[in-house]
This record gives sequence, C-alpha cells and structure tokens, in this order.
Amino acid sequence: MSLPVTAPVIGVIGGGQLARMMSPEASELGIELRVLAESPESCAAAVIPHAPVGDHTDLAVLREFARRVDVVTFDHEHVPTEHLRVLEEEGVAVRPGPQALVHAQDKIRMREAVDRLGLPNPRWAAVADADQLLAFGREVGWPVVLKTPRGGYDGKGVMLVAEDAVGSAPVRAWFEAIPQKGWSGLLVEEKVPFTRELSALVARRPSGEVRAWDVVESVQTDSVCDEVTAPAPGLDPQVAAAAQRIALRLAEELGVSGVMAAELFEVPGREGGVLVNELAMRPHNSGHWTQDGAVTSQFEQHLRAVLDLPLGSTAPVAGVTVMKNVLGGANEDLAGACPAAMAAHPEAKVHLYGKAVRPGRKVGHVNLSGPAAELAQVRRAAREAAAILRDGPAADPAATDPTDR
Ligand code: ADP
Repeated sequence: MSLPVTAPVIGVIGGGQLARMMSPEASELGIELRVLAESPESCAAAVIPHAPVGDHTDLAVLREFARRVDVVTFDHEHVPTEHLRVLEEEGVAVRPGPQALVHAQDKIRMREAVDRLGLPNPRWAAVADADQLLAFGREVGWPVVLKTPRGGYDGKGVMLVAEDAVGSAPVRAWFEAIPQKGWSGLLVEEKVPFTRELSALVARRPSGEVRAWDVVESVQTDSVCDEVTAPAPGLDPQVAAAAQRIALRLAEELGVSGVMAAELFEVPGREGGVLVNELAMRPHNSGHWTQDGAVTSQFEQHLRAVLDLPLGSTAPVAGVTVMKNVLGGANEDLAGACPAAMAAHPEAKVHLYGKAVRPGRKVGHVNLSGPAAELAQVRRAAREAAAILRDGPAADPAATDPTDR
C-alpha cells in the first residue's frame, strides 16, 4: 500500500512567466504549485496543471483560490491591497503580506518609506495638480520624471515632462485620473543623472533570515529590461555593499517575505553612490541570471522563503553571468530558431516562456556564464544567441543588435 503524499501547496496569483519559471523549482522540491491565471492561454497555465482562470481583482475569486493552498504569493503587483488585507484577516498566509507589498504597488508609499528609513531617495514630491508640478520643477530643474503611483510597468506610467509640457494633454489626463483611481497624487522625481542602473536582489523569510545575491548591472532599452550582467562590472565594492545593505534593510524593515529586487541608480558622488528607484517583491527580470549563475535561483529562493524554509546559498557559480532578454522581434517562430541558437552557442542556456511573439514583448531570455576575464566574449555570445531567437536563424547578429557596445 502506498503512503499518502503530502506536499506544501503554493498558490501564485498571476500566470505570467515568473509563475511559469517557479514551476520546475517547485517540482524539484516536491512542492505543489497552483496558479490563478488571467486566461487559459497564460504561459504558466501551459505548464502547471492546477491553473484556474479568474480575475485577481475579485475578492470572491481570490478567496476561493486561497482556500485550497497553504501560502499565497504573486507573479505581479496588481492585486488590490485591501483584498489582501481581508484574506490575511481570514487567516490566509499572504507572502509578501499587504503591509510590505504596498511598497511595491504604490511608488509614493515606497518613497515615503525610503525617506522614513533614512535611505537614499532622489528628490521627489507627491503632486495633485499642475501648479504643484510647476513648483517642483522650478525647485529641482527641468525636465522632471512624472509617474503614476500605481499600475505602471516597463515604463508605462513614467513620463519625462519639460516645463512647457506641464499643461499638455497627457499630463492633464494623469491628473484627471487621480480621484477615479484613488491615488494619493502623482509622483514626481528629479531626473537623476545616473551613470547606470543597478539591481540588488535579496530574499527574506518570515522568521527573519535574509540573503543577498551579487549586485548586478541592468540595461534598459525603451524602459524595458534588456540585459543584465552579474556581478555589475567594475562596481566599487563599497557601493556594492551599500546597495546590498539598502536592499536588506528595506526587506527587513518592510517585513518582506520572498524575493525582493531594489532597482537602483548609480550616481557617483551622491549619498553613498546609489539612489533607490523602485522595489519589486517577487522574482524579477534582473534576477533571471540566478537560474544558471548562482547556487540558488531566485525562483527556488522565493518558494523557500514564502514557505519559511531555510534559504539557499546565493553564491555565484561563475565569474560572470550575462542575461540577455529575448524581446519580440521579426521572428515569430522561436522554436524554429532554437536549433541555430543552440548550435551557434552550446554554452548558452535558453529560456523560452511559451508566449506568442509580439513586438517588444518579453518572450524569453538567454543566460551565459564564463570567467570574469572573458566578460566581453560572454556578453557577445549571449547577445548573438538572443538575436538569433529574435530575428530568426538567417539573421546576422552583429548587424542587428542595436545595443551592441
Ligand atoms: P517601471 O515601474 O515602469 O519599471 P520605473 O520607475 O522603474 O518604472 O522607470 C522606468 C525607467 O525610467 C527606469 O528604469 C529609468 O531608466 C527611468 N527613470 C525612472 N525614474 C527616473 C528618474 N527619477 N530619473 C531618471 N530616469 C528615471
């Protein structure tokens, strides 16, 4: 007679690629993963058998989903905070909990928390109308960066505003949306003169253990993460340590459970060399390199952390790892391009999300590791493999990668 098998059950709200990439790690650890998917075509639903379709803004749907899992966690930030508070009050383990998650959902709350903790923020204000925006711009200099406090991703919800654009239709539309959306205002920030963007990825479990991976450099193209290098090349060790300290302090003080990415601006000469840009409380694109470049990937770590299991080592397994995103391009047949990418770069680890190709959409990534002294070759190979997938096997990668440098 076989014994009954009991496995912890984690329910992920949202069926995107982050939920999908938790799946192999859950399988290896004997954890059952369930997903509340946006649609039957969600890319996580294609690989996770228990994937009911439901609206993550509907409390009744969330309740029903949470009833059958041990822990609820997330693929995205868009579940209303008030629903999560209700679930918590009803005894559901929501990780990260709403009191932490709100700082990844609401950029004004995040800026307030960073100030409260004495951590380095750009100059910022919450503004309710054009006059307040003008006053801020006159104080810090134009242009300024205007953001919707909630709902933005990949640069949607971020606008560079010059003085003569304060009365423009798009800016007016955002101000007019404030009452209907229930925002506390719009967030406006100085335009930070950063030299590059960094990301400090950490994990915390509810009982308090924390771990940090190496700080990475992330390159955005049109506000979408495009390429990540781990560790960030040439980063002053003191700045790296400061970046890790900031991320760990935020994770601890905000009571995060799970993986958290602190996106940072490197600004030599200002407050320890970095300023906080934003927080994500889930596995993050800047941490995909850990799948092949660290002892414990961010996806495994997130599962461990939300179950309050001991965290895994975050040590790198290579001198350098480059992650190059595959953003939707000319080639719609990713599987058809795979043989050419694999043949050209057998050392590349190809990750495809099972999503239909649309221009600029994140449909996969390539990880490639090597000795630190070979960063240039590793980077070139990762770009070439990703370019073959993006443009098709016939493409000449060197001629088609605009980010080549
Ligand atoms: P999202 O939520 O869409 O990721 P972010 O707040 O991270 O939005 O902004 C997207 C990108 O816009 C950043 O990666 C950065 O390149 C740029 N950006 C954001 N805020 C500022 C700022 N205050 N100064 C300069 N650039 C900024």
